[in-house]
Amino acid sequence: MQLSGQLSGKTAIVTGSNSGIGLGVAVELARQGADIVLNSFTDRAEDHALAERIGAEHGVKARYIKADMSVGEDCRALVRQAGGCDILVNNAGIQHVAPVEDFPVEKWNAILAINLSSAFHTTAAALPGMRERGWGRIVNIASAHGLTASPFKSAYIAAKHGVVGLTKTVALETAGQGITANAICPGYVLTPLVEAQIPDQMKVHDMDRETVIREVMLLRQPSRQFATVEEIGGTAAFLCSPAAAQITGTTISVDGGWTAL
Ligand code: NAD
Repeated sequence: MQLSGQLSGKTAIVTGSNSGIGLGVAVELARQGADIVLNSFTDRAEDHALAERIGAEHGVKARYIKADMSVGEDCRALVRQAGGCDILVNNAGIQHVAPVEDFPVEKWNAILAINLSSAFHTTAAALPGMRERGWGRIVNIASAHGLTASPFKSAYIAAKHGVVGLTKTVALETAGQGITANAICPGYVLTPLVEAQIPDQMKVHDMDRETVIREVMLLRQPSRQFATVEEIGGTAAFLCSPAAAQITGTTISVDGGWTAL
């Protein structure tokens, strides 16, 4: 399917997009012709340089706006500073692993704020402009953990289930208005964050790279293959395409079969 250029004239905000999945989604939307707003909580020269590079490579406007997604007012200010958006990708997220009775309260609060509440704030700020223009695409990056659970990830799983619920509610509130809201639920995706865990896992389990990936990290992913940031980007672009105009309030799993088990 040839999709190139179909998003020209649209502006996309991607939260948490100076690395990993957010960056992959931003690059794919730029490839489709969308102007891009990259975001994270840092304000380094390299963050702005990344936006410049994406703009130059794809012939679109691209800029970087610093905003801390753990702070509600920052989330809303991001949308205001961007001048609104046609496409909103809520991607920023963090993780912490601990049994529920030992789960540090500040980690619980941070995960709920960054992984869930930020999507509420950005969506609330972006919707009026989308309604005025009669077109909008909200793509929330949830997780296989938005649909299933694993031990020791209480905050992450509560937040990701919350994102799925928020997605459905926003879809109902915008139905028939040219706006859709959907959640992508990735399984394990090979991002720099995940890549960095491989050497430690190799040591702990005394296994080579391929074995630790197959037998430890991807134990619950039946394909035994990572999803890629390009695949998540492609799924987000599909949700923004004309073919997806009636897809709203749903989840799309990109998880190698994890949630089919
Ligand atoms: P990552 O750490 O590479 O990316 C997270 C991004 O969020 C970074 O750009 C980071 O700077 C940003 N971020 C963190 N805290 C922030 C804050 N307070 N304000 C603004 N930005 C902030 O990780 P990733 O793997 O690319 O994860 C991206 C999203 O995908 C997350 O929501 C994660 O839960 C989800 N996800 C990842 C996987 C996976 O296997 N990698 C699987 C399922 C879902």
